[in-house]
Amino acid sequence: MGSKIDEILAAARQHCDAVIKPEVDDWNKAGVWPRAASDKAGAAGLTGLYAPEEWGGQGLPLGEGIRVYEELGKGDGAYAFALSMHNICTFATCGYGTEAFKEKWARDLTSGRKLANFALTEPQSGSDAANMYTRATINGDGTWTINGAKAWVSLAGEADVYLTVVKTGDGKGHKDMAMIAIPKDAAGVSFGPRYDTPSYNFLPLSEMYFDNVVVSEDNIILPVGQGLQGSLMAIDIARVSIASGCCGLIESALDTALGYAKNRKMFSGVNLDLDGIQWMLGDVATDLEASRLLYRAAANALGTPEGPVMAAHAKKFVPDAAVRAANTCTQVMGGSGLLAQYGMDRLSRLSQMLRIVDGTTEISRVVIGRALKKRAEGLPDLPVPKGYGEE
Ligand SMILES: Cc1cc2nc3c(=O)[nH]c(=O)nc-3n(C[C@H](O)[C@H](O)[C@H](O)COP(=O)(O)OP(=O)(O)OC[C@H]3O[C@@H](n4cnc5c(N)ncnc54)[C@H](O)[C@@H]3O)c2cc1C
Repeated sequence: MGSKIDEILAAARQHCDAVIKPEVDDWNKAGVWPRAASDKAGAAGLTGLYAPEEWGGQGLPLGEGIRVYEELGKGDGAYAFALSMHNICTFATCGYGTEAFKEKWARDLTSGRKLANFALTEPQSGSDAANMYTRATINGDGTWTINGAKAWVSLAGEADVYLTVVKTGDGKGHKDMAMIAIPKDAAGVSFGPRYDTPSYNFLPLSEMYFDNVVVSEDNIILPVGQGLQGSLMAIDIARVSIASGCCGLIESALDTALGYAKNRKMFSGVNLDLDGIQWMLGDVATDLEASRLLYRAAANALGTPEGPVMAAHAKKFVPDAAVRAANTCTQVMGGSGLLAQYGMDRLSRLSQMLRIVDGTTEISRVVIGRALKKRAEGLPDLPVPKGYGEE
């Protein structure tokens, strides 16, 4: 018997080959979340990766479990992304939820019978996440009432519970933020019209509205003052998960181009005989190796002081490498690269989406820039030429 992670990776590979790859085009045509597929992912142990075994999870360290998305990403990056968010919410539930909340939800989440997602973004606050309005106020009996709106909610209307970041006061900044679990069927919860996203049409995305929604204090996942900080920790895990999924996407693009180029006859040989083609695909292969090393190092750094900046390096570098890979591999295939049957167009749109979600490439640069400024503070001062250091 192999180790736990080897078994889970084998299960993820099998799920990708038997479920995602053969079905994803039909999912996109139907435009409906494939609940039967995510049920199978649950049965295969892919929906409680980091949750403790006592709650039905796999109990894997983040550094190991995150590798699952590389396998799922070979089939579809949006599906891998949605399962990664579910796993992060399940991890947060088991790690920070109240005993009462865990008793009610944890086993259903780790088994995949119920799905969870994360609601932070609002129409006016994407990258500028602290500028949010959704408001929770405490009532005399200890319950909380929530009013407001979230945007770009994945699994909108499909997930059974949403870990929602809220403000609890009028002050600016994040000191009064909390994270509250809001069930889909709570009175006053509703969803806006679905966004039109043809390349991952099976992933429901929309706004989510809270109209005097009342939840028990049992549903507090992160108490007042820890909402944004906790969300940023969750987002670091999400950033590395996305980088992992992107490695699957890069491998899928590369293998499609190789499979085609070795058969495309031209100039008395085949496309793959041309030096220029080998060099283009060689660059993709180098990016893939570098991306894998980077996301795995970032995964191992999660929870350490280096975690946020390593997650930012991975989120900055790997999705950009995936965009380059999808474009290069399409180009290698000539006109055929544009045909739907090879799926390259879908990979191009997915890779671009993965550059944006859970903190854009530019926000990763902001995080890295801040870390560099801190590093500069600890370095010896170098003299600058006369006049260069003055106002
Ligand atoms: C498919 C998909 C699924 C998503 N799912 C969820 C979800 O489930 N839950 C959730 O809460 N959110 C979700 N999001 C939201 C996502 O996290 C945001 O889209 C993202 O954070 C960017 O916010 P924005 O779209 O408002 O862009 P904006 O914040 O408006 O950014 C616009 C542009 O400005 C750039 N920019 C921002 N700041 C700077 C800066 N300082 N310097 C230079 N450039 C800058 C950005 O990089 C971007 O290019 C999802 C998004 C997508 C696309």
